Amino acid sequence: MGPEALHIELLHACPNRCLACDHRDLGAASLKPAVLKALFARTELRELKLVSFSGGEPLLYPGLAAALKGAAKAFPGAALVLLTSLYDTDKALGLLRSLPAAVRLRLHIGSSLDGPGPVHDEMRGRPGSFSALKASVAAIREEFPGVSIGLTFTSTRRNASSFYQAWTRARRLGLPLAPQFLVPNANTAGLDLDTAARRDLAAGLRRALDECGSSRQAADLRQALDFLAGGPAGPCGAGSLFLMFSPEGEFYLCPFLKDVKAPLARAELLRPPAGGHRTRFCSACFLRCAR
Ligand code: SF4
Ligand code: SF4
Repeated sequence: MGPEALHIELLHACPNRCLACDHRDLGAASLKPAVLKALFARTELRELKLVSFSGGEPLLYPGLAAALKGAAKAFPGAALVLLTSLYDTDKALGLLRSLPAAVRLRLHIGSSLDGPGPVHDEMRGRPGSFSALKASVAAIREEFPGVSIGLTFTSTRRNASSFYQAWTRARRLGLPLAPQFLVPNANTAGLDLDTAARRDLAAGLRRALDECGSSRQAADLRQALDFLAGGPAGPCGAGSLFLMFSPEGEFYLCPFLKDVKAPLARAELLRPPAGGHRTRFCSACFLRCAR
């Protein structure tokens, strides 16, 4: 069975300075259109069910509309996902206006909400982020009601106690909010969940779960509670079920292990060995619960 999901980082640049992000330290690479074209032509990716585009901030990538259209054509069975901070309403609307309706209908926009307004702005490192997110969501909803939007909450020591408030804000926006966990990098020192933060987060997750009507949302909340409690953990899909691709034009193993790489023509180098990947991050990896 070939990979089901391909996650493409288009560039490292971003107008935000999220506390838990290290893209700003990774250079100025931006995926070359010719490399993207070659990636889309790989026969082993024909059966993809999902292609995501992120960054950095993908709305800054000059060829974003072309990339989405190219992916829609190359992978006719794949859902398309755009992971953006929605920091600029005009850019987001401009992109959507430039896409054919058939591509828009396959598109899901994923963004982040890391707390109520002041907490979200602090986590993003950019004043006005919460207002911009709200404005973009409202504008997209009004002009493109068929475009799917969802939010994630990256849980850290700084915002763990705000989960429930973020969840209610997302609810007011009419959007689902799924909890996520930290991927350690050079900027995450002091942000990992300590005992008190885990307790606060779990309380917020339970409170949201009590009020949650949607089974999909409830499943996300339960999965996060399971992860906090130490299990259950699913199998790892890195290098087999999902592939990651960097702005430098290489595959890499997973968000935890960006330095384990394979060139464009050799994705098979990332396939798990017998017994699966066993890295220093694997035992505590939330991606084993949520592919
Ligand atoms: S919006 Fe994304 S890429 Fe930009 S700083 Fe935040 S986490 Fe990093
Ligand atoms: S850290 Fe390990 S378990 Fe998690 S995605 Fe990477 S290889 Fe898989």
